[in-house]
Amino acid sequence: MKILIVEDEVALAESIGEYLKDEGYVNELVFDFQSASEKINTYSYDCVIVDINLPDGNGLDLIRQLKKNRAASGIIIISARNSLDDRIAGLDIGADDYLVKPFNLPELNARIKSVIRRINFSGSNEIVLNEIRIDTDAIQVFVHDELVVLTKKEYDLLIFFIANKNRVLSKESIGENVWGDYADTLSSFDFIYTHIKNLRKKLLEKGARDYLQNVYGVGYKFNTL
Ligand code: CA
Repeated sequence: MKILIVEDEVALAESIGEYLKDEGYVNELVFDFQSASEKINTYSYDCVIVDINLPDGNGLDLIRQLKKNRAASGIIIISARNSLDDRIAGLDIGADDYLVKPFNLPELNARIKSVIRRINFSGSNEIVLNEIRIDTDAIQVFVHDELVVLTKKEYDLLIFFIANKNRVLSKESIGENVWGDYADTLSSFDFIYTHIKNLRKKLLEKGARDYLQNVYGVGYKFNTL
């Protein structure tokens, strides 16, 4: 799961980033409007956390931009206590939720999980796909009710594939979504292939259907058809 944090209070942004990293998210931090705008026009995120008052712009315009791009990201506003009008405006133009500063980090995490569930999996904390069942609170995967022990990256890959099932996903897009934009700097995407190969093997060992298809020269498809 990939999160963009837009917050000009650097210490706050960093503490959010560190907390979410420990919770297993891939995070990117930006401290001003311009950088945030460039990020959301270039990359996709599962959730964007937006401060409204930025030194060089208004977070509401970032929300408008996300909506205009038809981004599938969840949007959570973080704002000062005295800016009720902004929060209402934010929800009106399509933000999913808001938190008033100061907030505690587990609360933010709970909101992120709920927003992502709503967007990708119709609100449930259990994803069921034929013989595969995923408990997204416990971060556990079962095939035919038997636990499959996955690494964090294998788990993230599986969630990303299921959220985008039956679509061809390029290696670049898989890398960007599961590893963050530092995937750009890698000279090859072979490491993605290794993780996918291991995930596929573990699912097959427990008797799952062979969903993961290599689309030659392009990437992968999680084929449920
Ligand atoms: Ca601010």
